[in-house]
Amino acid sequence: MRYISTRGQAPILNFSHTLLTGLAEDGGLYIPETWPHLSHNDLRELRKLDYSELAAKIIGLFTGDDIPAPILLDLCKQSYANFNHKAIVPLVQLEHNLFVQELFHGPTLAFKDMAMQLLGRLFDYVLSQREEHITIVGATSGDTGSAAIEAFKDSKYLTVTILHPYGRTSEVQRRQMTTVLSPNINNIAIKGSFDDCQDLVKSMFADMPFRKEMHLSAINSINWGRIAAQIPYYIYAALCLGAPDREISFTVPTGNFGNILAAWTAKKIGLPIRFLGVASNHNDILTRFLLNNDMSIQEVKPSLSPSMDIQISSNFERLLFELLDRDAAQCCQIMQNFRKDGKMNIPEQSWTKATQNFKGMSLNNEETKKAITKIFKDSLYLADPHTAIGIITAQKYLEKDVPMVTVATAHPAKFPDAIKQATGILPPLPLAMADLYERKENYQILPADLQAIENSVRTVAYQNNF
Ligand SMILES: *Cc1c(COP(=O)(O)O)cnc(C)c1O
Repeated sequence: MRYISTRGQAPILNFSHTLLTGLAEDGGLYIPETWPHLSHNDLRELRKLDYSELAAKIIGLFTGDDIPAPILLDLCKQSYANFNHKAIVPLVQLEHNLFVQELFHGPTLAFKDMAMQLLGRLFDYVLSQREEHITIVGATSGDTGSAAIEAFKDSKYLTVTILHPYGRTSEVQRRQMTTVLSPNINNIAIKGSFDDCQDLVKSMFADMPFRKEMHLSAINSINWGRIAAQIPYYIYAALCLGAPDREISFTVPTGNFGNILAAWTAKKIGLPIRFLGVASNHNDILTRFLLNNDMSIQEVKPSLSPSMDIQISSNFERLLFELLDRDAAQCCQIMQNFRKDGKMNIPEQSWTKATQNFKGMSLNNEETKKAITKIFKDSLYLADPHTAIGIITAQKYLEKDVPMVTVATAHPAKFPDAIKQATGILPPLPLAMADLYERKENYQILPADLQAIENSVRTVAYQNNF
């Protein structure tokens, strides 16, 4: 399996190399050169597999020869062994044809664990084979950071610096990151928004001497390894609900467009998906795009669902590349103009294609609170703010004859204040995390200044035998 950049100017890489590289050197994102395909018969065969086995099969389509199949299976089993639910990704029914698939039973209580637990092990495997050391830098709006820190905290082969927007994550989210005191973990709170954090990470990658010196690598959802690890649960849910002999739709609470891109990929490789619902908060660039081809950047406003407080959805570039029939030059042009003008100019024909596959909806904070209350009243289900937006979006587009699954991206206990206000119930933290508020924290607060961040990244790397 080979990977090409959406901007057409970076070297073609195999899976391991793509995994370690993250963002392509030309600023683009890596994507498989050709899509693997599963026939309906292939899909039926997968019904007998449990989640870890299914994950190894699906992810194996993307790793090619780089990771031997028995090793990949073993890594998948280890990754999902420390989840708190035996089904790993259980389905819960809310009403006729409407289901929630809970992706939050991992160690940090958000769906990011689904990919990150495996990514940590894949990195260690590949780096140990190559006897290499690398430096990981990442930006988080809350959940990626903690999932990465949890997955990479004991690695001998790498250090991790995570930037989070100061004061804009929930306290649980912050503490999950800052209370991990391993020497290879570096937490920085940036005085700015998530987009500022993401821009700083991009700038570090664009600083070629620094990138080369530090052997920089990314674990943001621009990393194809993460997308690959998010495909299996869509297939698993679909098989449980009758696919491939029946169509299915999904709704995904969306920020950086990674999770929903994985759903779209599942369709691309053969899963019969009718359409995908894109759920957003008042940072509604994707909804505006789907409604009237208006992809224009507005200021990021903090919301009750901080992991979706994003205006620039990085992974959208992969979809754009496909919508443009893989015209890398045009993709590059559109993305460069987008950064310059703050507005994306997408050909009418490509936009129409997008609207056939995706339907969007956004809820503001008031509507989100009402949604949490209503879902609890109607189905006795405690949905975190992200998931609640997903469920309301799913209801809007629900069809009588097609099952609809909303992925639940975070455990309600990650957002206790919003849940308490909306339902009167304070969702307890799972046992393993009960002392989170007593643990010691360690992080620095820095301005959104590239030089200061690079110095910090370098210092921590060299302190860890880089
Ligand atoms: C990361 C995250 C999202 C958004 O996922 P993307 O892949 O960035 O679209 C939604 N909900 C929660 C709880 C998250 O942690």
